[in-house]
Amino acid sequence: MECASEIQTLFPELRVQAGRRLSECTTFRVGGPCPLLIDAPSAGSLPALIKALHERNLAFLVIGQGSNLVISDEGLDCVIVRFCSEKPEIQTDAGRVTVSGSTLLDDFARITVGNNLGDLTFCTGIPGTVGGGVAGNAGAFGRQIGDHLISAEILAPDGSVRSVHSEELEFSYRHSRLKETGEILLSATFELPMLEKNELQAERERILQFRK
Ligand SMILES: Cc1cc2nc3c(=O)[nH]c(=O)nc-3n(C[C@H](O)[C@H](O)[C@H](O)COP(=O)(O)OP(=O)(O)OC[C@H]3O[C@@H](n4cnc5c(N)ncnc54)[C@H](O)[C@@H]3O)c2cc1C
Repeated sequence: MECASEIQTLFPELRVQAGRRLSECTTFRVGGPCPLLIDAPSAGSLPALIKALHERNLAFLVIGQGSNLVISDEGLDCVIVRFCSEKPEIQTDAGRVTVSGSTLLDDFARITVGNNLGDLTFCTGIPGTVGGGVAGNAGAFGRQIGDHLISAEILAPDGSVRSVHSEELEFSYRHSRLKETGEILLSATFELPMLEKNELQAERERILQFRK
C-alpha cells in the first residue's frame, strides 16, 4: 500500500506492515492478506492514527486478539489496526478500575483478583481483549462484562473521542452498540466491590480447571 511509509513516518512508535496474512492475527489461524497491518498496543496513539486514516479515506477495521474472528482466505481490503497488548494497562482507585481496551481479559481478571476486587472472575480464561469483550459483551456462567462497566472512552471512526455511560453502550446478550457503530473502545471504567482475595483466587482456579 502506497501510504505505508507515510503512516510509519507519522507514527514511528507503531509497527506498520504491508501484505501480512490475517491468519497471523486470528486464534483459528484463518484469513488471507490485508494491505496494511498496524499494531497499536496502547490507546495513546490510536485517536491520531484513526484520524489520519479517516483523512486519507482509508477504510479500516480495529481488531483485538482475533479470538472471535473468522476471516475469508481472500483477505480483507482494508487497513487492519490491531489494538492488543500483553502488557496490561490498569489503574485502580479504591473500587474503581480503569483498563485499556488493549488489555487481555484474563490479565484483567487476574489483576482485579490480586487487588481483592470482585467479581470479574468469570472473565478468567476468556481469550481476547477488554475492547473485544466490551464490544461483544463477553461473559460466562450467566454473567457478562457489561454488568460491571460504569463508563468508557470511545473513539469514533473520524478520530474524535468521547466519554459514555454504560447505558449508551446498550448491552444485551453478546452485543453492544459498538458492534453497530464501528466505534472503538479505548478504555473502560468498572466499579467493583472489595471481596476476600482467597475466595476470588479459589474461584479463578476453579474456572481455569473447568475451562482446561
Ligand atoms: C477457546 C475460546 C473460548 C471462548 N470463550 C468465550 C466465553 O466464554 N465467553 C465469551 O463471551 N466469548 C468467548 N470466546 C469468544 C472471544 O473470546 C470473545 O468474543 C472476545 O471478547 C473477543 O475479543 P478479541 O479481542 O479477540 O476480539 P476480536 O476477535 O479481535 O474482534 C471481535 C470483534 O470485536 C471488535 N473489536 C475488537 N476490539 C475492539 C475495540 N477495542 N473496540 C471496539 N470493537 C472491537 C472487532 O472489530 C470484531 O468485530 C471464546 C473464544 C475462543 C476461541
